[in-house]
Amino acid sequence: MALIVQKFGGSSVANAERVMNVAKIVCDTYRDGNDVVVVVSAQGDTTDDLIAKAKEINPKAPKRELDQLLAAGEEISISLLAMAIETLGCPVISLLGWQAGFNTNSVYGSARIKNIKPNRLQAELAKHNIVVVAGFQGINRYDDVTTLGRGGSDTSAVAIASALKADKCQIFTDVDGVYTADPRKVEGTKKLKEITYDEMLELATLGAQVLNNRSVEMAKKYSIELEVLSSLNPIPGTIVKEVAKMEKMLIRGVTNDKDVALVSILGVQDNPGVAFKVFSKLSQKQINVDIILQSFGRNDTKDLVFSVSKENGPVAVELLNGLDILDGARIVCNTDVAKVSIVGAGMESHPGTATKMFEALYDRGINIKMISTSEIKISVIIDANEADRAVSAVHAAFIPND
Ligand code: ASP
Ligand code: MG
Repeated sequence: MALIVQKFGGSSVANAERVMNVAKIVCDTYRDGNDVVVVVSAQGDTTDDLIAKAKEINPKAPKRELDQLLAAGEEISISLLAMAIETLGCPVISLLGWQAGFNTNSVYGSARIKNIKPNRLQAELAKHNIVVVAGFQGINRYDDVTTLGRGGSDTSAVAIASALKADKCQIFTDVDGVYTADPRKVEGTKKLKEITYDEMLELATLGAQVLNNRSVEMAKKYSIELEVLSSLNPIPGTIVKEVAKMEKMLIRGVTNDKDVALVSILGVQDNPGVAFKVFSKLSQKQINVDIILQSFGRNDTKDLVFSVSKENGPVAVELLNGLDILDGARIVCNTDVAKVSIVGAGMESHPGTATKMFEALYDRGINIKMISTSEIKISVIIDANEADRAVSAVHAAFIPND
Protein backbone atom coordinates (compact mmCIF):
# COMPACT_ATOMS: atom_id res chain seq x y z
CA MET A 1 0.00 0.00 0.00
CA ALA A 2 1.29 3.41 -0.93
CA LEU A 3 0.45 6.96 0.12
CA ILE A 4 -0.37 8.98 -2.97
CA VAL A 5 -0.94 12.72 -3.25
CA GLN A 6 -2.99 13.70 -6.30
CA LYS A 7 -3.44 17.34 -7.30
CA PHE A 8 -6.09 18.50 -9.77
CA GLY A 9 -5.98 21.95 -11.36
CA GLY A 10 -8.89 24.27 -12.05
CA SER A 11 -9.66 22.96 -15.54
CA SER A 12 -9.79 19.37 -14.22
CA VAL A 13 -12.67 20.31 -11.88
CA ALA A 14 -14.27 23.03 -14.04
CA ASN A 15 -17.81 21.57 -14.05
CA ALA A 16 -19.92 18.76 -12.56
CA GLU A 17 -18.87 16.26 -15.22
CA ARG A 18 -15.19 16.99 -14.67
CA VAL A 19 -15.61 16.77 -10.89
CA MET A 20 -17.15 13.30 -11.34
CA ASN A 21 -14.26 12.34 -13.61
CA VAL A 22 -11.78 13.35 -10.91
CA ALA A 23 -13.79 11.47 -8.28
CA LYS A 24 -13.44 8.31 -10.38
CA ILE A 25 -9.66 8.69 -10.73
CA VAL A 26 -9.36 9.23 -6.97
CA CYS A 27 -11.62 6.28 -6.07
CA ASP A 28 -9.78 3.97 -8.49
CA THR A 29 -6.52 4.87 -6.78
CA TYR A 30 -8.09 4.29 -3.35
CA ARG A 31 -9.62 0.96 -4.37
CA ASP A 32 -6.22 -0.18 -5.62
CA GLY A 33 -5.35 -0.21 -1.90
CA ASN A 34 -3.66 3.19 -1.52
CA ASP A 35 -4.04 5.99 0.98
CA VAL A 36 -5.03 9.06 -1.02
CA VAL A 37 -4.73 12.77 -0.27
CA VAL A 38 -6.23 14.98 -2.96
CA VAL A 39 -5.40 18.67 -3.44
CA VAL A 40 -7.69 20.77 -5.65
CA SER A 41 -7.69 24.24 -7.16
CA ALA A 42 -10.70 26.48 -7.65
CA GLN A 43 -12.99 25.51 -10.54
CA GLY A 44 -12.12 26.90 -13.98
CA ASP A 45 -11.74 30.69 -13.93
CA THR A 46 -13.18 31.09 -10.43
CA THR A 47 -10.09 32.80 -9.02
CA ASP A 48 -10.01 35.34 -11.88
CA ASP A 49 -13.74 35.95 -11.48
CA LEU A 50 -13.36 36.55 -7.75
CA ILE A 51 -10.52 39.01 -8.37
CA ALA A 52 -12.73 40.84 -10.90
CA LYS A 53 -15.55 41.02 -8.36
CA ALA A 54 -13.22 42.50 -5.78
CA LYS A 55 -11.89 45.10 -8.24
CA GLU A 56 -15.40 46.16 -9.12
CA ILE A 57 -16.01 47.09 -5.52
CA ASN A 58 -12.57 48.23 -4.44
CA PRO A 59 -9.67 48.41 -6.93
CA LYS A 60 -7.30 48.73 -3.99
CA ALA A 61 -8.88 45.99 -1.89
CA PRO A 62 -6.88 45.16 1.26
CA LYS A 63 -4.80 42.06 0.62
CA ARG A 64 -6.11 40.36 3.72
CA GLU A 65 -9.66 40.63 2.45
CA LEU A 66 -8.62 39.48 -1.01
CA ASP A 67 -7.15 36.32 0.49
CA GLN A 68 -10.30 35.78 2.52
CA LEU A 69 -12.26 36.02 -0.74
CA LEU A 70 -9.97 33.95 -2.99
CA ALA A 71 -9.76 31.08 -0.52
CA ALA A 72 -13.49 30.57 -1.13
CA GLY A 73 -12.75 29.26 -4.63
CA GLU A 74 -10.94 26.21 -3.34
CA GLU A 75 -13.54 25.74 -0.59
CA ILE A 76 -16.16 25.20 -3.28
CA SER A 77 -14.01 22.64 -5.09
CA ILE A 78 -13.16 20.49 -2.08
CA SER A 79 -16.73 20.17 -0.87
CA LEU A 80 -18.09 19.38 -4.35
CA LEU A 81 -15.37 16.81 -4.97
CA ALA A 82 -16.01 15.17 -1.59
CA MET A 83 -19.73 14.95 -2.46
CA ALA A 84 -18.84 13.37 -5.81
CA ILE A 85 -16.54 10.82 -4.17
CA GLU A 86 -19.27 9.98 -1.69
CA THR A 87 -21.64 9.04 -4.54
CA LEU A 88 -19.06 6.48 -5.69
CA GLY A 89 -19.12 4.83 -2.27
CA CYS A 90 -15.69 5.79 -0.93
CA PRO A 91 -15.19 7.29 2.57
CA VAL A 92 -14.06 10.89 2.24
CA ILE A 93 -13.60 14.14 4.11
CA SER A 94 -12.73 17.61 2.82
CA LEU A 95 -10.42 19.99 4.71
CA LEU A 96 -9.63 23.68 4.29
CA GLY A 97 -5.99 24.72 4.37
CA TRP A 98 -6.01 25.55 8.08
CA GLN A 99 -7.81 22.31 8.95
CA ALA A 100 -5.10 20.41 7.09
CA GLY A 101 -2.45 22.18 9.19
CA PHE A 102 -1.01 24.62 6.64
CA ASN A 103 0.87 27.32 8.56
CA THR A 104 2.19 30.21 6.48
CA ASN A 105 3.88 33.54 6.98
CA SER A 106 1.77 36.69 6.79
CA VAL A 107 2.49 37.92 3.27
CA TYR A 108 -1.09 38.05 2.04
CA GLY A 109 -1.36 37.17 -1.63
CA SER A 110 1.92 35.29 -1.81
CA ALA A 111 2.37 33.64 1.56
CA ARG A 112 5.09 31.05 2.10
CA ILE A 113 4.35 27.76 3.82
CA LYS A 114 6.23 27.60 7.14
CA ASN A 115 5.18 24.09 8.08
CA ILE A 116 2.34 21.62 7.90
CA LYS A 117 1.05 20.11 11.14
CA PRO A 118 0.03 16.73 9.76
CA ASN A 119 -1.96 15.44 12.78
CA ARG A 120 -5.40 15.89 11.28
CA LEU A 121 -4.37 14.55 7.89
CA GLN A 122 -2.82 11.50 9.52
CA ALA A 123 -5.86 10.92 11.74
CA GLU A 124 -8.19 10.99 8.74
CA LEU A 125 -5.95 8.62 6.79
CA ALA A 126 -5.87 6.29 9.79
CA LYS A 127 -9.68 6.22 9.59
CA HIS A 128 -9.26 5.16 5.94
CA ASN A 129 -10.74 8.36 4.61
CA ILE A 130 -9.78 9.88 1.31
CA VAL A 131 -8.75 13.40 2.32
CA VAL A 132 -9.55 16.27 -0.04
CA VAL A 133 -7.56 19.40 0.80
CA ALA A 134 -8.04 22.96 -0.45
CA GLY A 135 -4.92 24.03 -2.33
CA PHE A 136 -3.47 27.56 -2.45
CA GLN A 137 -4.33 28.48 1.14
CA GLY A 138 -3.17 28.39 4.73
CA ILE A 139 -3.37 30.30 7.94
CA ASN A 140 -0.92 32.74 9.56
CA ARG A 141 -0.03 33.30 13.20
CA TYR A 142 -2.89 35.77 13.60
CA ASP A 143 -5.34 33.02 12.56
CA ASP A 144 -6.01 34.83 9.30
CA VAL A 145 -6.47 33.01 6.02
CA THR A 146 -3.62 33.47 3.53
CA THR A 147 -3.10 32.43 -0.09
CA LEU A 148 0.12 31.22 -1.68
CA GLY A 149 0.11 33.20 -4.94
CA ARG A 150 -1.37 32.32 -8.33
CA GLY A 151 -0.98 28.67 -9.24
CA GLY A 152 -0.18 27.91 -5.59
CA SER A 153 -2.08 24.62 -5.38
CA ASP A 154 0.86 22.79 -6.96
CA THR A 155 2.95 23.96 -4.02
CA SER A 156 0.28 22.81 -1.56
CA ALA A 157 0.42 19.32 -3.08
CA VAL A 158 4.21 19.10 -2.94
CA ALA A 159 4.20 20.38 0.65
CA ILE A 160 1.73 17.69 1.71
CA ALA A 161 3.71 15.01 -0.11
CA SER A 162 6.77 16.14 1.79
CA ALA A 163 5.06 16.43 5.20
CA LEU A 164 3.50 12.97 4.91
CA LYS A 165 6.50 11.40 3.17
CA ALA A 166 4.20 10.29 0.37
CA ASP A 167 5.32 7.62 -2.09
CA LYS A 168 4.05 9.55 -5.09
CA CYS A 169 2.93 13.07 -6.00
CA GLN A 170 0.85 13.31 -9.15
CA ILE A 171 -0.06 16.68 -10.67
CA PHE A 172 -3.08 16.25 -12.94
CA THR A 173 -3.75 18.98 -15.47
CA ASP A 174 -5.31 19.45 -18.91
CA VAL A 175 -2.18 18.49 -20.84
CA ASP A 176 -0.70 15.02 -20.67
CA GLY A 177 2.82 16.05 -19.71
CA VAL A 178 5.67 18.45 -20.32
CA TYR A 179 6.46 19.06 -24.00
CA THR A 180 9.56 20.33 -25.80
CA ALA A 181 7.54 23.44 -26.76
CA ASP A 182 3.91 24.54 -26.73
CA PRO A 183 2.24 21.83 -28.89
CA ARG A 184 -0.56 24.21 -29.84
CA LYS A 185 1.91 26.53 -31.54
CA VAL A 186 4.89 24.46 -32.66
CA GLU A 187 4.97 21.48 -34.99
CA GLY A 188 6.79 18.27 -34.13
CA THR A 189 6.89 18.80 -30.36
CA LYS A 190 7.55 15.79 -28.17
CA LYS A 191 6.38 14.80 -24.75
CA LEU A 192 9.26 14.30 -22.34
CA LYS A 193 9.33 11.08 -20.33
CA GLU A 194 11.58 12.67 -17.72
CA ILE A 195 13.02 16.06 -16.88
CA THR A 196 15.26 17.31 -14.07
CA TYR A 197 14.09 19.73 -11.40
CA ASP A 198 16.50 22.39 -12.66
CA GLU A 199 15.29 22.11 -16.22
CA MET A 200 11.67 22.16 -15.12
CA LEU A 201 12.37 25.19 -12.97
CA GLU A 202 13.79 27.05 -15.97
CA LEU A 203 10.88 26.03 -18.16
CA ALA A 204 8.34 27.02 -15.50
CA THR A 205 10.05 30.37 -14.96
CA LEU A 206 10.26 31.01 -18.71
CA GLY A 207 6.54 30.69 -19.14
CA ALA A 208 5.77 27.01 -19.74
CA GLN A 209 2.57 26.91 -17.72
CA VAL A 210 2.38 23.29 -16.63
CA LEU A 211 3.83 23.66 -13.13
CA ASN A 212 4.18 26.54 -10.74
CA ASN A 213 7.88 27.28 -10.18
CA ARG A 214 7.70 27.46 -6.41
CA SER A 215 6.34 23.93 -6.38
CA VAL A 216 9.31 22.72 -8.43
CA GLU A 217 11.72 24.49 -6.07
CA MET A 218 10.10 22.76 -3.13
CA ALA A 219 10.04 19.37 -4.87
CA LYS A 220 13.76 19.71 -5.54
CA LYS A 221 14.51 20.78 -1.99
CA TYR A 222 12.72 17.78 -0.49
CA SER A 223 13.44 15.31 -3.33
CA ILE A 224 9.77 14.76 -4.12
CA GLU A 225 9.41 13.08 -7.49
CA LEU A 226 6.52 14.61 -9.45
CA GLU A 227 4.46 13.19 -12.25
CA VAL A 228 2.65 15.67 -14.53
CA LEU A 229 -0.26 13.98 -16.28
CA SER A 230 -3.71 14.55 -17.74
CA SER A 231 -6.96 14.07 -15.85
CA LEU A 232 -8.75 13.45 -19.16
CA ASN A 233 -6.34 11.16 -20.96
CA PRO A 234 -5.15 8.21 -18.85
CA ILE A 235 -1.62 7.74 -20.20
CA PRO A 236 1.73 8.08 -18.41
CA GLY A 237 2.87 11.68 -18.04
CA THR A 238 6.25 13.34 -17.47
CA ILE A 239 8.36 12.58 -14.40
CA VAL A 240 10.22 15.48 -12.78
CA LYS A 241 13.23 14.31 -10.74
CA GLU A 242 16.89 14.92 -9.91
CA VAL A 243 18.53 12.99 -12.75
CA ALA A 244 16.67 12.39 -15.99
CA LYS A 245 17.52 10.37 -19.09
CA MET A 246 18.34 12.54 -22.10
CA GLU A 247 16.58 10.55 -24.86
CA LYS A 248 18.93 11.67 -27.67
CA MET A 249 18.08 15.28 -26.99
CA LEU A 250 20.58 18.00 -26.37
CA ILE A 251 17.96 20.40 -25.16
CA ARG A 252 14.74 19.74 -23.32
CA GLY A 253 12.57 22.61 -24.40
CA VAL A 254 12.08 25.90 -26.23
CA THR A 255 10.05 28.63 -24.58
CA ASN A 256 8.58 31.96 -25.55
CA ASP A 257 8.18 34.44 -22.72
CA LYS A 258 6.11 37.44 -23.78
CA ASP A 259 6.20 39.14 -20.42
CA VAL A 260 9.29 41.20 -21.20
CA ALA A 261 10.09 44.88 -21.63
CA LEU A 262 13.44 46.43 -22.54
CA VAL A 263 14.52 49.62 -20.84
CA SER A 264 17.37 51.51 -22.53
CA ILE A 265 19.38 54.30 -20.95
CA LEU A 266 21.19 55.92 -23.86
CA GLY A 267 24.11 58.28 -23.68
CA VAL A 268 24.72 58.25 -19.94
CA GLN A 269 28.02 59.78 -18.67
CA ASP A 270 30.72 57.10 -18.46
CA ASN A 271 31.34 57.50 -14.72
CA PRO A 272 31.55 55.08 -11.79
CA GLY A 273 28.32 54.39 -9.87
CA VAL A 274 25.83 54.41 -12.74
CA ALA A 275 24.98 50.69 -12.58
CA PHE A 276 24.90 50.75 -8.79
CA LYS A 277 22.53 53.71 -8.61
CA VAL A 278 20.25 52.47 -11.38
CA PHE A 279 19.82 48.97 -10.05
CA SER A 280 19.61 49.90 -6.39
CA LYS A 281 16.80 52.32 -7.27
CA LEU A 282 14.95 49.49 -9.02
CA SER A 283 15.54 46.93 -6.30
CA GLN A 284 14.25 49.34 -3.66
CA LYS A 285 10.94 49.14 -5.50
CA GLN A 286 11.14 45.34 -5.80
CA ILE A 287 11.63 45.50 -9.57
CA ASN A 288 13.32 42.35 -10.75
CA VAL A 289 15.87 42.83 -13.52
CA ASP A 290 16.65 39.92 -15.83
CA ILE A 291 19.22 40.51 -18.59
CA ILE A 292 21.63 43.47 -18.40
CA LEU A 293 23.79 44.81 -21.21
CA GLN A 294 26.22 47.70 -20.93
CA SER A 295 28.12 49.09 -23.89
CA PHE A 296 31.76 50.18 -23.86
CA GLY A 297 32.17 53.87 -23.17
CA ARG A 298 32.58 56.02 -26.30
CA ASN A 299 33.01 59.82 -26.31
CA ASP A 300 32.60 59.72 -22.52
CA THR A 301 29.13 58.19 -22.69
CA LYS A 302 27.78 54.68 -22.61
CA ASP A 303 24.43 52.85 -22.96
CA LEU A 304 22.82 50.59 -20.42
CA VAL A 305 19.99 48.27 -21.45
CA PHE A 306 18.11 45.79 -19.28
CA SER A 307 14.98 43.67 -19.34
CA VAL A 308 12.15 43.58 -16.80
CA SER A 309 8.56 42.32 -16.83
CA LYS A 310 6.16 44.20 -19.14
CA GLU A 311 4.31 45.74 -16.27
CA ASN A 312 7.54 47.03 -14.73
CA GLY A 313 8.91 48.64 -17.92
CA PRO A 314 7.11 52.00 -17.65
CA VAL A 315 7.51 51.96 -13.86
CA ALA A 316 11.28 51.62 -14.23
CA VAL A 317 11.41 54.52 -16.72
CA GLU A 318 9.53 56.75 -14.32
CA LEU A 319 11.79 55.86 -11.41
CA LEU A 320 14.98 56.41 -13.41
CA ASN A 321 13.84 59.74 -14.83
CA GLY A 322 14.28 61.13 -11.34
CA LEU A 323 17.95 60.05 -10.97
CA ASP A 324 20.58 62.83 -11.03
CA ILE A 325 23.32 60.54 -12.31
CA LEU A 326 21.31 59.97 -15.51
CA ASP A 327 21.05 63.70 -16.36
CA GLY A 328 21.43 64.15 -20.11
CA ALA A 329 20.68 60.50 -20.92
CA ARG A 330 17.63 59.36 -22.87
CA ILE A 331 15.52 56.66 -21.22
CA VAL A 332 13.16 54.62 -23.38
CA CYS A 333 11.06 51.51 -22.92
CA ASN A 334 10.22 48.92 -25.58
CA THR A 335 7.42 46.49 -24.71
CA ASP A 336 7.22 44.86 -28.16
CA VAL A 337 9.83 42.23 -27.34
CA ALA A 338 9.87 38.59 -26.32
CA LYS A 339 12.39 36.23 -24.80
CA VAL A 340 12.98 32.94 -26.59
CA SER A 341 15.01 30.39 -24.67
CA ILE A 342 16.39 26.88 -24.97
CA VAL A 343 16.73 24.80 -21.82
CA GLY A 344 18.64 21.58 -21.25
CA ALA A 345 21.21 20.17 -18.85
CA GLY A 346 22.96 18.51 -21.81
CA MET A 347 24.11 21.76 -23.40
CA GLU A 348 26.76 22.37 -20.79
CA SER A 349 28.96 19.66 -22.26
CA HIS A 350 28.16 20.45 -25.91
CA PRO A 351 30.10 23.27 -27.49
CA GLY A 352 28.32 24.94 -30.37
CA THR A 353 24.86 24.92 -28.82
CA ALA A 354 24.60 28.70 -28.89
CA THR A 355 25.91 28.83 -32.46
CA LYS A 356 23.25 26.38 -33.55
CA MET A 357 20.54 28.52 -31.97
CA PHE A 358 21.87 31.74 -33.53
CA GLU A 359 22.14 30.04 -36.91
CA ALA A 360 18.51 28.95 -36.79
CA LEU A 361 17.51 32.56 -36.12
CA TYR A 362 19.86 33.96 -38.78
CA ASP A 363 18.40 31.53 -41.36
CA ARG A 364 15.01 33.13 -40.77
CA GLY A 365 16.39 36.66 -40.80
CA ILE A 366 15.54 37.20 -37.13
CA ASN A 367 17.60 39.85 -35.37
CA ILE A 368 18.83 39.28 -31.81
CA LYS A 369 18.71 42.27 -29.47
CA MET A 370 20.21 40.68 -26.37
CA ILE A 371 21.66 37.34 -25.32
CA SER A 372 22.08 35.72 -21.94
CA THR A 373 23.37 32.29 -21.01
CA SER A 374 23.57 30.04 -17.97
CA GLU A 375 24.69 26.43 -17.51
CA ILE A 376 21.38 25.05 -18.68
CA LYS A 377 19.78 27.87 -20.66
CA ILE A 378 20.36 30.31 -23.51
CA SER A 379 17.93 33.20 -23.94
CA VAL A 380 17.63 35.79 -26.66
CA ILE A 381 15.49 38.90 -26.74
CA ILE A 382 13.90 39.55 -30.11
CA ASP A 383 10.98 41.50 -31.60
CA ALA A 384 7.69 40.15 -30.23
CA ASN A 385 6.16 39.68 -33.68
CA GLU A 386 8.95 37.26 -34.62
CA ALA A 387 8.75 35.14 -31.49
CA ASP A 388 6.50 32.36 -32.78
CA ARG A 389 8.62 31.94 -35.90
CA ALA A 390 11.76 31.96 -33.81
CA VAL A 391 10.49 29.22 -31.48
CA SER A 392 9.57 26.99 -34.44
CA ALA A 393 12.95 27.54 -36.09
CA VAL A 394 14.95 26.84 -32.95
CA HIS A 395 12.79 23.82 -32.09
CA ALA A 396 13.32 22.35 -35.55
CA ALA A 397 17.07 22.83 -35.20
CA PHE A 398 17.34 21.00 -31.89
CA ILE A 399 14.63 18.40 -31.52
CA PRO A 400 15.29 15.32 -33.63
CA ASN A 401 12.46 14.39 -35.93
CA ASP A 402 12.10 10.62 -35.60
N1 ASP B 1 -6.93 28.92 -7.81
C1 ASP B 1 -5.63 29.49 -7.70
C2 ASP B 1 -5.26 30.20 -9.00
O1 ASP B 1 -6.02 30.17 -9.94
C3 ASP B 1 -4.59 28.50 -7.32
C4 ASP B 1 -4.31 27.45 -8.35
O2 ASP B 1 -5.02 27.32 -9.34
O3 ASP B 1 -3.35 26.71 -8.16
O4 ASP B 1 -4.22 30.79 -9.07
MG1 MG C 1 -6.67 28.20 -10.93
